[in-house]
Amino acid sequence: MNAQVAYDHEAELTTVLERCNAAARDYNIPSKSELPEGYIGTLGHFPVYFPEEIVHAAKLLPVNILGGGNKLELKYADARMGSFICSICRSTTELGLNGTLGDMAGFVTHPICDAAKHLAGIWARNLPDQLSQILYLPQNVNSPGAARYIASEYQRLRGEIEKKIGHTIGDEAIRNSIQIYNVNRRLLRELYRIRRDEPWKVSCTEAYLLMRARTRIPCEEHNALLSRALDAIRHRSLPAQDKPRIVFVGGFCEQPPIEMLEAMDDNCYIVDDDLLVGLRWFTEDVPETGDPIWALAESYIVRSEASPVQHDENKPKEGYLLDMVKNAKADGAILTAAKFCEPGLDEQIAWSKHFDAENIPYLVLEFEEKMTSFEQMAMQVETFAESLLFAIA
Ligand code: SF4
Repeated sequence: MNAQVAYDHEAELTTVLERCNAAARDYNIPSKSELPEGYIGTLGHFPVYFPEEIVHAAKLLPVNILGGGNKLELKYADARMGSFICSICRSTTELGLNGTLGDMAGFVTHPICDAAKHLAGIWARNLPDQLSQILYLPQNVNSPGAARYIASEYQRLRGEIEKKIGHTIGDEAIRNSIQIYNVNRRLLRELYRIRRDEPWKVSCTEAYLLMRARTRIPCEEHNALLSRALDAIRHRSLPAQDKPRIVFVGGFCEQPPIEMLEAMDDNCYIVDDDLLVGLRWFTEDVPETGDPIWALAESYIVRSEASPVQHDENKPKEGYLLDMVKNAKADGAILTAAKFCEPGLDEQIAWSKHFDAENIPYLVLEFEEKMTSFEQMAMQVETFAESLLFAIA
């Protein structure tokens, strides 16, 4: 008789989460000998959005440099940066200066704020063997020339990478990478759909770890892991709990510590968020035919998410967060900003004013990647969640 063993979805999810957890919590990058087959090196990029497809097509592993979390001790960066600079810039500098990122072929940052822009100068001076670049994405995406301008920036970056690796990056290779990343973004959209529709099936922390793994592993491997995870999540039969539905914003650049996400999961269902929004920037597939650079440039404008570092009159600050709240049927929002983050704090003021006018309950929090004490924050979240439950009872 052929006895069939029941497939254990929970065990499968645990296996995938363990792999993602290990990748997501590691600020090291794979050394040359650890690189997956087919890759010739790594190229680091700073948040928020970066066209990873161009780097992937060059057979370099794109690694999103997200600072050092709350385990990194700063020895060199503090002597070189003012104390008013956000934590992710300081810890990224530390990782460059202490040799952790020494194996990368290069590092690309963006003018999302003054602090991030200046990382390129620090890199060029201290790691002269690496390609050090600022990718200038437009401040005004509504200008008629914006897509053409972005395409020319992408071509410039492509040329710099070609010089660094010593061979050209073909259009066909970029189109192939776009296909692989389109699959990834579809899977991430499905993950977020489940969180909106059945938030008891996957916590914010689990979803975050699943997503963040892409910052250290090839997109192909990430696609396979996400597919396995989504299948297991769909089969999960966990009971819905009496928790308010919350939208969380403020995690677009510097990342809140995992413990902060866990404190929110304990008290709320986080039904939407802007964590690592750059990894899932496109709201629809990027066209897979035609000029791939144009497809990426145009998509940056016409099929993209909103964030505090992009000014787009089609995505007004007041509008996109309200849409997130409405689409996720949220009871309220947690509006955070990383300490010393100018774009985040600006946005927080605009959001709070608008929520006051719309009578939407919200909690304002500040975080820092290196924070290690969460009791007070957990208590604030718990009190906020209880007040919401009381109001909607
Ligand atoms: S956290 Fe804010 S201030 Fe710091 S680099 Fe990012 S956008 Fe700039």
